[in-house]
Amino acid sequence: MSVRKIVSIGDPVLRERSREVEPAELRTPAVQRLIDDLIDTKRAANGAGLAANQAGEAVRIAIAEVDGTNPRYPYKPPIPLCVMVNPVLEPLDDELVEINEGCLSVPDLRGSLARHVSVRVRYLDRHGNEQEEIKRGLTAGTFQHELDHLDGVLFVDRADPKTLATWEQFELHQREEFVERAKELVARVGS
Ligand code: ZN
Repeated sequence: MSVRKIVSIGDPVLRERSREVEPAELRTPAVQRLIDDLIDTKRAANGAGLAANQAGEAVRIAIAEVDGTNPRYPYKPPIPLCVMVNPVLEPLDDELVEINEGCLSVPDLRGSLARHVSVRVRYLDRHGNEQEEIKRGLTAGTFQHELDHLDGVLFVDRADPKTLATWEQFELHQREEFVERAKELVARVGS
């Protein structure tokens, strides 16, 4: 296991559609090692999630994990480690919520964008077993962010450009209002 370099916006690998992983390929040591590396890399960078193409590998693998003490996103509800292979996401209804996001591949920038409040995620876990989960609120936003990566989409593509801010400016001008809204959302939908 090792921490890999996270590629930044501008690298073409972040802009291509990552390819599906075949079940036989998923069992190989190389792919299992990649999953371990993604977990290590996400944890070392204090991210809420990481997609394989952020580590330079254009395959449809993404992970999400928030342990409740994340310094980048202290307001996010905990997410147990989730390794998703070939994930597919489907909104459960039309309700949207504005969420402020950052990304390990877009250094020192945050922005606000609309995300679905409730989504169903289907994926293979790292052992090849089919999984299906419903995600809501900020957690649903995290899953939409990570799965966007697999289609070559970054949060800046969806963000209202007028909301873009460095982390310092977010702290100064946007954090209080956003955290208040985030808490309301968590209280309403449970995550
Ligand atoms: Zn990201």
